[in-house]
Amino acid sequence: MRSAFVRRVLYPLQQTLQGRNFLGLLEEWSEIQYRPPDELRERQEEKLRSLFLHARRHVPHYAEKCRFLGLGPDDIRGLDDLPKLPVLSREDVRSNFPLRITADNVPRRRRVPDRTSGSTGEPLIFYRDKAARDAALASFLLFDAWAGIRPGDRSVHVGAPQPFKLNSKLSAVLRGHTDLGVFSLDDGNTEALLAKLVKIKPDLIEGYASVLFRVALAALKRDVRPKPRAVIATSDTLPAHEPVEDAFGCRVFNRYGNREICGALAQNCPDGRGLHINTELCVLEVVDEHNLPVPAGRSGRVLVTDLANRVMPLIRYDTGDRAAAGGTCSCGRGFPLVSAVEGRSTEFLISPRGGRVSPVSLGHFLFVSRPYAGSVRVFQAEQRDAERVVFRFVPMGRASESLKQDLLRDLQEFMGRDVEVRIEFVGDIPAGPGGKRSVIVSSIAPRFP
Ligand SMILES: [Zn+2]
Repeated sequence: MRSAFVRRVLYPLQQTLQGRNFLGLLEEWSEIQYRPPDELRERQEEKLRSLFLHARRHVPHYAEKCRFLGLGPDDIRGLDDLPKLPVLSREDVRSNFPLRITADNVPRRRRVPDRTSGSTGEPLIFYRDKAARDAALASFLLFDAWAGIRPGDRSVHVGAPQPFKLNSKLSAVLRGHTDLGVFSLDDGNTEALLAKLVKIKPDLIEGYASVLFRVALAALKRDVRPKPRAVIATSDTLPAHEPVEDAFGCRVFNRYGNREICGALAQNCPDGRGLHINTELCVLEVVDEHNLPVPAGRSGRVLVTDLANRVMPLIRYDTGDRAAAGGTCSCGRGFPLVSAVEGRSTEFLISPRGGRVSPVSLGHFLFVSRPYAGSVRVFQAEQRDAERVVFRFVPMGRASESLKQDLLRDLQEFMGRDVEVRIEFVGDIPAGPGGKRSVIVSSIAPRFP
């Protein structure tokens, strides 16, 4: 009933009033996903060429790189030419933001400021493209459909609380969507969350993998089942699908996205094992240490090119994630495959009472709920015993005593009174073994759950 209302009334009305076209895009993508891989690649390469020409001409950072490397307008014709372009790091974005990484010919009203959740320990402020929001919404709706979920089916999000906005709250109510904000989970929270899920009876449960995993274990222990039709895990990778599938009695999908990049980029095939990449939205490369593509089946770093954002083009953006390239699927979809994305941190901070804080929730607290994105370059939390946590920050510019006091007050409140919080400002936080910097270093927490 509500599904029909959302599909036939609410969404079409929203499109007309706001001059949008996400339903058109969804219809187009639902059809073209079954086109042959070569045809989809040609469509993707056309978008890539256009993005490159735009960035080369209108974004100072890319104009300078192209001059330095001698790259003319015809030098990037397709995916095979991408390695000619340098990788874009977070630091490149940060040090060039806003003027040198923003296109000079896109109207200012299309700039939508946003920030990363900081789960990698390096918060980032960037611009989304208002004109790309249809592509983003269509990408979520397409992947929801793969999980058998239609607009208006009852859905629940478990993860960082979304900022309150009256119009999005109203739209959520009409769509049958509930946002169950969760920062950390101790056993009491897990039980409460499980009880809410049983009461709401959602068709779809979507949210942080680490949270879903804990809820699944609690459901199995108590033999209480929320019984959704699908579960979609985001933000970090599930250590195992089986307990979650057992507990919820339905298929579990991993959805891959990146806050800086528009929309949902890849999700498990409903008929196979790998994750199909939406090539209408992005180019996803898996590369080795020389930034060259790895052979199918081999693992490497994930670089993403956002084909939808013209305001602040991100080309070969280094996500900090790892995945294995390639694979084949017999479902008939022409979208290429990538294996489960690895390397999302699963270390936690724990409180003496057993509460857990993941890097995602910590980053969200510091940089979305609190305004530290402009003051902190990199951070790391270290826990040697349950009662004490040291937070180290590399400040942006000069660190003031008041910044230190604010961080101390907020983090003390966040961690709870049972934990002694210490703040240190340092010049650098070196990467650990494997070249990745961990946001949370713990000598006491089990890796999972
Ligand atoms: Zn497939």
